[in-house]
Amino acid sequence: MRVVLADLKGPEGFVSKDTVVGGYGSRSKSFTAVTSVLSQIKWRFQVALSVQMAELAAIAAASGHEVVYTRDEFVEGDVAVVLSSLVDYRHETAWADAMRARGIRTGFVGLAASKLPHLFAGHADFVISGEPEEAFMRLIRGEQLAGLCASREVADLDSLPFPRWDLLPAASRLPRRTVPLAGRPLGGGFPLLASRSCPEFCTYCPIRILATYRARSVGSIADELEQLCDRYPRPHVIFRDPLFSQDRDRCLALSDEILSRGLRLTFECETRLDRLDEQLIDRLHAAGLRTICFGVESHSPATLRKVARRPIPPRHQSAIVDHCHRTGIVTAAQYVLGFLQDDWSSIAATIASAVALGSTFAQFKLLTPYPGTPLWKQLEHRVYERDWHKFDGFTPTFTHPNLSADELQFLLGAAYARFYMRPSWLGTYLRVPGNRARDYLRALDDRVSARQARSEIALMSRAVEC
Ligand code: SF4
Repeated sequence: MRVVLADLKGPEGFVSKDTVVGGYGSRSKSFTAVTSVLSQIKWRFQVALSVQMAELAAIAAASGHEVVYTRDEFVEGDVAVVLSSLVDYRHETAWADAMRARGIRTGFVGLAASKLPHLFAGHADFVISGEPEEAFMRLIRGEQLAGLCASREVADLDSLPFPRWDLLPAASRLPRRTVPLAGRPLGGGFPLLASRSCPEFCTYCPIRILATYRARSVGSIADELEQLCDRYPRPHVIFRDPLFSQDRDRCLALSDEILSRGLRLTFECETRLDRLDEQLIDRLHAAGLRTICFGVESHSPATLRKVARRPIPPRHQSAIVDHCHRTGIVTAAQYVLGFLQDDWSSIAATIASAVALGSTFAQFKLLTPYPGTPLWKQLEHRVYERDWHKFDGFTPTFTHPNLSADELQFLLGAAYARFYMRPSWLGTYLRVPGNRARDYLRALDDRVSARQARSEIALMSRAVEC
């Protein structure tokens, strides 16, 4: 059988799917000068690889089937499987329509297809609901899938074959050189899932709504890393687990395994800062850790508790970020603006705390009630946006009790400007050494910040006059 795997490029801006926002996906959006630069960098340089597609490719190839991978081209095959998303579903369903018109049975996999099957069902012969592997194995064994097909989660993740990146031509386009000082290739790296789902309970999070939390063994992860190192020189690996360091001993054992096998690689991971300490960071760094992404979300512990997110003491967050920077690890913090308790002053406080924390990068997004989350149930009556493409994390989607959509958008733009348009941010990025130089840059920040405040006031006054 010739199996077509489609991970379609977004036609409007850079779209990340696969494991991003649990699989609902995200689209870079330019709404200010700073966000325009950030999304241009992604659009031009980033290669987004789907680990789910590479895993399905491995399953099909292991059974002797031919695999054809496409990012937009219509290709001939016996069956086509399309990776679904929320932010680009119209493009995906139009592509599926065209494939079916050519007589090719076509189906969807992914979180969006699982949680909103009605968006895809009219454009597909089958829609796989749940983690796709179990139903996909039935498909390649010859079962004719039709309609909505439930797929059981894989209990033992070690039993799955390793992703076949050699069957995804996009993988060969990954850049080999790292960006000076940023510690990672500009275009990304090989995604790897050492675990799936998340053991935490944040009510706004779509990552934990498809399946339960399970982790792979250290031996299985190290074997996959070794295979990558055998095929690609010094690969950069992106652990896509939302809580990579959930189990400290497992992380230490993995670091030891990487070192004892002599694997030459770099990697980045995502985790909670309360799951890190200096000793663990040092051991992970010795094994190749170069970037850590983590959520801070809001400066207010009370706000975080309202969404079932356990707050982390600010002093611990600062100590970890400072230690990472001393060690040479890039830090990327994530924030959410527009929690129900938020108003102008609480968002200003979150932006100020992001600046004070001093991570290398920061990502700000608007609170978005994603279908299937507890937050969706809580806010469904307030959701006015029915165009799913706009559930991109940058567009207001529900009536906020304290802030209008324009205010939210304005505050989001201000967050990016306040964070990135600082001389001291450049100092952090360039790793400027010495306290005196850093103090000087911070003093310059005050002047820049006063100018930003003037231009923000002017912008708001114009908006009020209109
Ligand atoms: S820690 Fe919370 S936000 Fe992060 S992946 Fe887990 S449930 Fe989601």
